[in-house]
Amino acid sequence: MQITFPCPSCEQPAQAEWSPGQERLPCAQCGLQLDVPADAWDDGLLRRCLACPSHDLFVRKDFPQRLGVAIVVTGFVFSSVAWYYYQPLWAFAFLFATALIDVVLYLLMGDAICCYRCGAQYRGLPDIERYQSFNLETHERYRQEKIRLAESAHTGP
Ligand SMILES: [Zn+2]
Ligand SMILES: [Zn+2]
Repeated sequence: MQITFPCPSCEQPAQAEWSPGQERLPCAQCGLQLDVPADAWDDGLLRRCLACPSHDLFVRKDFPQRLGVAIVVTGFVFSSVAWYYYQPLWAFAFLFATALIDVVLYLLMGDAICCYRCGAQYRGLPDIERYQSFNLETHERYRQEKIRLAESAHTGP
């Protein structure tokens, strides 16, 4: 599988290939070799994040939102131009076509597993339907924790 994670050492987004049983996760940027916890892979499932101590992961559609928005906006612009030139059929055709492209792209895109805590992303995992989907409460818990950490780092000794 392919992993995108924030490297704890150089703090750059790093990409690495990893397969179950592999004991280290390398960062191509700074050469750090992250130790992969032994309990990370169990029963064909990723049980925890490899880049941070979190055990909370969720599955989400691997769809670049900006691309989706860009396609819709493009369709809207073309459609408006068609309206302007009194071509209602073309106007609808553009809207329809771009909406269709969005749907098709959405279906073609695979799923990714994400870490609530550090935002690491895991692609190409088997049995993706066995993972839990996004939970706002868990997300909020990690968000609050992040804020607290930032504050204590700010006012700490
Ligand atoms: Zn690094
Ligand atoms: Zn993580």
